[in-house]
Amino acid sequence: MDAPVDCVFCKIAAGEIPSLKVFDDATTFAFLDINPLADGHLLVIPRAHYAQLDEMPDDEVSRVTGHLPRLARAVVAATGAEGYNILQNNGAVSGQAVMHVHFHIIPRTGADGLGYRWNAGQYPTGRDRQMHEAIVSALQS
Ligand code: AMP
Ligand code: ZN
Repeated sequence: MDAPVDCVFCKIAAGEIPSLKVFDDATTFAFLDINPLADGHLLVIPRAHYAQLDEMPDDEVSRVTGHLPRLARAVVAATGAEGYNILQNNGAVSGQAVMHVHFHIIPRTGADGLGYRWNAGQYPTGRDRQMHEAIVSALQS
């Protein structure tokens, strides 16, 4: 996909907008989030522009996400976090504000007050099987 001229993360990866980079290679760029949910909150992006994860070639996803464990270990070591969330939003409805694929690494402590909403429901009778069939069928097409 051609990069939109105004994509802030393309510009960060190209060095046209300053960032606090912690790592980069041919496909991946990792830097501090400018408005962190916690100290050490990182963003990990592909250098190439894709709006959503499902638009990326599998091997490029693998290369970018392959850095997540080491980056997460560094964030934990640097911050003393007790855990972390990996968050990756796709589409405005999911909370995505910057339309260039990015993985958040958000360090967590028990006292951080960030909380976590997980409003789990239950399938009405038969709905789980319907969903199962629809997704298996979509995977085959
Ligand atoms: P999302 O809501 O998943 O699209 O998250 C976008 C993230 O990008 C937010 O956490 C912002 O704080 C962050 N962000 C936006 N602009 C910049 C920037 N110039 N440098 C670093 N982080 C940024
Ligand atoms: Zn971009």
